[in-house]
Amino acid sequence: MIASDLETGRRELAQLLDSARVVLPFTGAGISTETGIPDFRSPGGFWTKFRPIPFDEFLASQEMRNESWRRRFALEEQLASARPGRGHRALASLYRAGKAPAVVTQNIDNLHQESGIAADDVIELHGNTTYAICLQCEQRYELAWVQAQLAASGGRAPDCSCGGHIKTATISFGQAMPDAAMRRAEELTRGCDLFLSIGSSLLVWPAAGLPLLAKRTGARLVIINREPTEFDDMADLVVHEDIGSTLEPFIIAH
Ligand code: NAD
Repeated sequence: MIASDLETGRRELAQLLDSARVVLPFTGAGISTETGIPDFRSPGGFWTKFRPIPFDEFLASQEMRNESWRRRFALEEQLASARPGRGHRALASLYRAGKAPAVVTQNIDNLHQESGIAADDVIELHGNTTYAICLQCEQRYELAWVQAQLAASGGRAPDCSCGGHIKTATISFGQAMPDAAMRRAEELTRGCDLFLSIGSSLLVWPAAGLPLLAKRTGARLVIINREPTEFDDMADLVVHEDIGSTLEPFIIAH
């Protein structure tokens, strides 16, 4: 069903949460917009401003690597000052209550971890933009170090001492998905009886396959997203309302 208004959405969601044994939240950029981080596809989102840099172009061109780091640091103020929103806090409450074993996210902003969910229980399908790694030897680099290198070299993206290129620890278009994270996400999806898709346009694959897998393996599916998605028809509950307002009643102070 599509909830006719916010109150109905909250009430129906509360009932589904009550009767669920294992809840799996799956989040996209929409859960973070109220924290000041734009999503990709809404008006004003990243996509409307920049064409994403595909992985092969990052590898092939020093200029693309420089540009990729320019864009990353242009967002630094927004990313560094963002604090978990109401949606993150509600999901952390479900986690603390033992109702949700983990959160699967497409987000790269580290806000689920900051909301109190253990890093091991935040399954990041598209990586994390709050640090960097060498694409060759996987050495971790902090952003402050990268920023200092850029400043010292007039904006030239640095390479690792092994010669590999250094990139934010995110998954770009055309880059392989992290196997372990994908496997764990699928296992968690098979093991839940309520799957909550929150703030995702469900257009990016293979992540968008998870709600389908949930339905196929017998879970109930809830979609909370301002705009309709292609999967609304198969969901048990669809809430086309603001995420923070929908999830706020589920925040438990601790
Ligand atoms: P998307 O931009 O494709 O979709 C976000 C959806 O959230 C939209 O359909 C929009 O209508 C909805 N939305 C936005 N704010 C909302 C709100 N307050 N309440 C209800 N709905 C709201 O994002 P996606 O599906 O996550 O896929 C895009 C890719 O973008 C992901 O791979 C992700 O890695 C990346 N991304 C991440 C961040 C982040 O980490 N915060 C930000 C931008 C993009």
